[in-house]
Amino acid sequence: MLPELAPKMLAMVLSRPGAPLELRELDVPQPGAGQLLLEVTACGICRTDLHIVDGELTEPQLPLVPGHQIVGRVARCGAGVNGGVISQRVGVPWLGGTCGSCRYCLGGQENLCDHAVFTGYQINGGFAGYCLADARFCFPLPDGYPDLQVAPLLCAGLIGYRSLRMAGEGRQLGIYGFGAAAHIVTQVAVWQGRQVYAFTRPGDLAGQAFARRMGACWAGGSFDRPPQELDSAIIFAPAGELVPAALQAVRKGGRVVCGGIHMSAIPSFSYDLLWGERSLVSVANLTRQDGEEFLALAPQVPVRTEVTAFRLEQANEALAALRSGQLEGAGVLLVDEQIRKRGARGD
Ligand SMILES: [Zn+2]
Ligand SMILES: [Zn+2]
Repeated sequence: MLPELAPKMLAMVLSRPGAPLELRELDVPQPGAGQLLLEVTACGICRTDLHIVDGELTEPQLPLVPGHQIVGRVARCGAGVNGGVISQRVGVPWLGGTCGSCRYCLGGQENLCDHAVFTGYQINGGFAGYCLADARFCFPLPDGYPDLQVAPLLCAGLIGYRSLRMAGEGRQLGIYGFGAAAHIVTQVAVWQGRQVYAFTRPGDLAGQAFARRMGACWAGGSFDRPPQELDSAIIFAPAGELVPAALQAVRKGGRVVCGGIHMSAIPSFSYDLLWGERSLVSVANLTRQDGEEFLALAPQVPVRTEVTAFRLEQANEALAALRSGQLEGAGVLLVDEQIRKRGARGD
């Protein structure tokens, strides 16, 4: 017999873009066919959550429970799911579902699916006591990582890894914006034998010191000249003016990868910056294969995440800390038994 579930849960809810999230009591959802009901234990916060809350990503389902780096235990299975997964720890990423039949799905690019749905955007996410997820899009999580530490691997890690792969094999790698994704990617890149040059907001000496601690061989302000010409660069910060700066820092034939889902307008720049077969690409979403590869790789490095924990009801403070650049590494919301019981009692 499965333990009985409380009928209610607490969740942080976005009712309209631009407004703070509200702590609300919601019904614990019932898993439909192919779905898992997860008891959420931790959920990472991500810059994408900020873009959703701030209204820069314009197609959220409202009201919305955000959060797409979900760590949870399987509490119930919907029809058609093998019950053997009950009580297993799984992770839920940004890619929440695909159509399986468009040209992208059929061509091995499910990250570009025309009809994809995204966790914490079109479907409710993990800023809650419980959430639903399509069982086919959940990942088993590597042992050896506590819930709080594994959460940032699910977006910062996955998207970071896809961006790193997209950057090619070059040894001299620049990273613009040193937050959650960068601190993970740096560890992987150094392990691969690369040298990492970290670019932070000008004057952010604490961020530069953090980057060096994570393995960067050099750290400076975003418009500083690195001591070495770069083979490639990844931009994680959502600032369009970094694109010409990064193009200027990479060598002929080099590549600049934009790893974020949203960026301010890119200022016009001289063709000289692109000339010499430099290329500029974006990274969109993830495939399940990225997830499997990265979650297998992370314990080998091993990637260690630096995490600042907040309680679920502190989600607004956590997002504010991310927005102002105060977080070192990744922010994660903790959903503990106490919060779950409060939700169940309705207080
Ligand atoms: Zn598709
Ligand atoms: Zn994310």
